[in-house]
Amino acid sequence: MSETRRQVTVLGSTGSIGVSTLDVLSQHPQRFSVYALTANNSVQGLFDQCVQHCPAFAVMACTDSAEDLQQRLTDAASDTRVLAGIEGLCEVSAADQVDVVMAAIVGAAGLEPTLAAVEAGKTVLLANKESLVMAGGLFMQAVADSGATLLPIDSEHNAIFQCMPVGERGLCAKAGVSKILLTASGGPFREWSLEQMRLATPQQACAHPNWSMGRKISVDSATLMNKGLELIEACWLFDVAAESIDVVVHPQSIVHSMVQYVDGSVLAQLGNPDMRTPIAYGLAWPERIGSGVAELDIVAVSRLDFEAPDETRFPCLRLARQAVIRGGTAMAELNAANEVAVQAFLDGGLGFAEIAGVVAAVLAESSADEPATLDVVKQADCRARTQARAIINNR
Ligand code: NAD
Ligand code: MG
Repeated sequence: MSETRRQVTVLGSTGSIGVSTLDVLSQHPQRFSVYALTANNSVQGLFDQCVQHCPAFAVMACTDSAEDLQQRLTDAASDTRVLAGIEGLCEVSAADQVDVVMAAIVGAAGLEPTLAAVEAGKTVLLANKESLVMAGGLFMQAVADSGATLLPIDSEHNAIFQCMPVGERGLCAKAGVSKILLTASGGPFREWSLEQMRLATPQQACAHPNWSMGRKISVDSATLMNKGLELIEACWLFDVAAESIDVVVHPQSIVHSMVQYVDGSVLAQLGNPDMRTPIAYGLAWPERIGSGVAELDIVAVSRLDFEAPDETRFPCLRLARQAVIRGGTAMAELNAANEVAVQAFLDGGLGFAEIAGVVAAVLAESSADEPATLDVVKQADCRARTQARAIINNR
């Protein structure tokens, strides 16, 4: 049986999605084995995971951390080989032995290793939404060219995927879809006034009512930029225009999104808010396996509420729609400015309510070039980061 086990690389294994992925993998040792694990700078965290999961490779972002980890693993009589940097990440994403790559690095740093997995024709489980936001056209073309299998892990997109007919999952028009209803929890500040949000702290922004996630996506959920990024992600994944996607605030996070068809039917996927459900779905697709997630007690939930989003208090959602309309590199610039602004907020150097202003100012300067190559995207990303830092420093 062991030779039929699927070999999995987990990019960003020490993060929230990475840890949930390893949890699901360890429930199915007869189906999966871990080929590689990767982390930014958490040597201890990756060491512990390597001891438990015995991957062939581990990758750290910088050489110093990689040497430190290799020494510790060698001392612990582990056979895991440690690589470093973007080359190491791309190597473990594209290696011949690998069947499945979980793309769970946060932010723009995830783009190149995820693309490497796509170009090598792997089954790619996509959590790193930023890579599609930055370079959706190039990304989807690479999927088509290589024959890679792209499975969305973001809970909303995984729900939409599950609500589409098999064989036409990336093709809304062909499947008779009239609209996508993208649900949003509304985040921790759903009921806060603009005045209250001005004083919001990183700790408050990261205290999401329903989901436990990394700090960057938690802040994005609080500004609703996460929903804006997801809107762009859905446009690319399902080949649909932004006008055909309605964002619906649903505070309970039980309905993970809905698909409306031309005949009036609306299909929804429901479940407890636990990322192990979409992760297990992606790992076993087209089969189903256990995830460790508790059964949904719909009677205990008892009610499901829906409301329209408020783009006055949450302007990031409007900015993301504007970026789609501008097209080209505007989406990469939106993403880059947001990453810089969110980091500045987390570091205490920017107010919560100022995040949107930084993104808006960078977007206003966007050239919205046609992203014909990855270099064009990377240059736009770099330019937007420099502009965002200047705006933050000069305000
Ligand atoms: P996280 O911050 O908890 O983890 C990020 C992982 O990426 C860590 O392993 C970290 O070491 C690694 N990393 C960070 N910067 C890196 C760099 N420069 N180079 C290499 N590795 C780096 O984040 P998360 O919450 O697990 O989110 C990961 C991705 O999944 C994000 O794109 C997020 O939008 C998406 N996502 C997360 C959730 C969730 O519930 N957490 C849900 C949907 C989508
Ligand atoms: Mg999501």
